[in-house]
Amino acid sequence: MSTATATATSAAAYQKCMMPACGATYDVGEVHTSCPACGALLDITYDWDRLPTPTSLRDFERKWSRRNEPLERSGVWRFRELLPFAPDEKIVSIGEGQTPLHPSVGVAAYVGMNPGRMLLQYEGMNPSGSFKDNGMTAAFTHAHMIGAQRAACASTGNTSASLALYCGMSRLMQAVIFIGSGKISYGKLSQALDYGALTMQITGDFDDAMQRVREVSKRLGIYLVNSVNPFRLEGQKTIMLRVLESLNWQMPDWICVPGGNLGNSSSFGKAFHELHKLGLIDRMPRIAIINAAGADTLYELYEKRGLRWNDGAPDTKIIDGYYAELDAASERADTIASAIEINRPVNLMKCLRALQCTGGVVREVTDQQILDAKSQVAANGLGCEPASAASVAGAKMLREEGVIDPDEQVVCVLTGHQLKDPTATVAYHSSDQNEFNRVLGSRGVNTATYANRAVQVENDLDAIVRAIQLNS
Ligand SMILES: *Cc1c(COP(=O)(O)O)cnc(C)c1O
Ligand SMILES: [Zn+2]
Repeated sequence: MSTATATATSAAAYQKCMMPACGATYDVGEVHTSCPACGALLDITYDWDRLPTPTSLRDFERKWSRRNEPLERSGVWRFRELLPFAPDEKIVSIGEGQTPLHPSVGVAAYVGMNPGRMLLQYEGMNPSGSFKDNGMTAAFTHAHMIGAQRAACASTGNTSASLALYCGMSRLMQAVIFIGSGKISYGKLSQALDYGALTMQITGDFDDAMQRVREVSKRLGIYLVNSVNPFRLEGQKTIMLRVLESLNWQMPDWICVPGGNLGNSSSFGKAFHELHKLGLIDRMPRIAIINAAGADTLYELYEKRGLRWNDGAPDTKIIDGYYAELDAASERADTIASAIEINRPVNLMKCLRALQCTGGVVREVTDQQILDAKSQVAANGLGCEPASAASVAGAKMLREEGVIDPDEQVVCVLTGHQLKDPTATVAYHSSDQNEFNRVLGSRGVNTATYANRAVQVENDLDAIVRAIQLNS
C-alpha cells in the first residue's frame, strides 16, 4: 500500500466518543481507553464515503481464490474493507478467524428447534482457542501501528492467552497480564505462562484486576488490550460477517451470545448497524445476550430495572443505584462460567446501544443449565467451555418461553474451546460424588443430567468384556 493511501485511510477512520451528547473525535494514532473529554467509551468510526466499500457482501467471495495471501486467509482481515483503520503493512495476523458454522440436529432437538434451524458458530477453533483472537489481532495491530513495546490486559483467562500468543508469535511486544487470585482455569493460565507472558497475579477478582491494569497501564504507558479498547471490537465484528458468509449472506433470525464484559454483543451490534447503513443488509437479526445467574448485571439492569440506551440518554441513576447495592452487599460475581464471571461489564453502554438497534433480549441461566447445555453441545461433537454453553442454554430458555419460534433460524456463538476448562467437565462426568460436590456442589449444581461416567472395572479380561457388553 502506498503512503498516500495509508494517509487517506487513517484520515477516513477516527475515534469518536460513543455518547451523542459529547461526540468528541480523536485520531486513530492516539491511544485512549475512554473519551478524554467525558470518560465514555470510544468507537472507531469511518467516513464510508471516502473509503472503497463493497457494493455487495458477495464482493468478499472474490477473495476466496487468494487464500494463499495471509490477509485474505485471515477470517478477520479478509473483511478489512469493513474495519479500515490500519495500513496493510502494519496488520499482525496469525491466521485467526478460520471458524466454521455448524448446523446441529442434536442441539436443535435439545433446544426445541426444528432440524436445521440451530447453528453453532465455533469460535473455539481460533489459534488460542477462543473468539478473543478476532479482537486481539485488531488491537495488536493498532498497538503495532503506534509503536507500543508492551501490551497489557486483565483477564479471566482467554484475553491473556490470546495476547500472550500474539506477542509470542510476532515478537513485537511483551505481554503483561493481570489475573485475579481466585478462579482462572488451568487451560488458560497454562497458555499465558507457556507463551511467555509476564503474569501478575493480584489478590482480588476480575473486577479488581481490571481496575488495576487500567491504572498501571496509564502510569507505565503500556498499551491496554482489554475490551475497553475500541479496536478490539472492530475485529470481533467479523464473527458476524463469517456467520453471514456461511449462510450465503442470508440473515439469521437470532444471534445468541454469552454476556461477560459485553464486547462481543457490542461489536455484533456495531457490525449490523454499519452493514445496514452501507446498504449491505436489509434487516437486522435479534441479539439474545445470556448472563450467568451468578453474574447477571446486564439481566438485572435491562430486564428487571428497565435500563435502556434511550437513543444515547440512558438513565445512569439505575446503574449507579445497582452498583451501590452490589457494593453494600459486598456481592461478588460467582459462576462456573469463569469467562463471564463479571459484575461490572465495561461495555455496558455499547451493549445497550446494540440491544436497542437489534431489538435484543437478555436472559440469565443457572450453572446447572449451563453445564447441561455444554454436555449436549459436546455430545453432538463440538466441545466448548462453560461460558460458551450459556448461549445454548439461553436459546433453550427463550424457546421454552415462546420468544424464539421453533422454525426461526438461531445462531449460538460458542466462544471458547472445550479444553480451556477441563476441571468442570471432568467433575460433571465424574462417578465420584465427592469430586462432583467439591467442584460443582457449591454452585447449586445438583445433577449431572447427562453424565457420561467412566465404567469402573477390575483389570481382568473377562470382567472387561462383560462390562463392555453390559454397557453398550
Ligand atoms: C471473554 C469471553 C466471554 C465474554 O465475552 P464478552 O465479549 O466479554 O461479553 C464469553 N466466553 C468466553 C469463552 C470468553 O473468553
Ligand atoms: Zn466524550
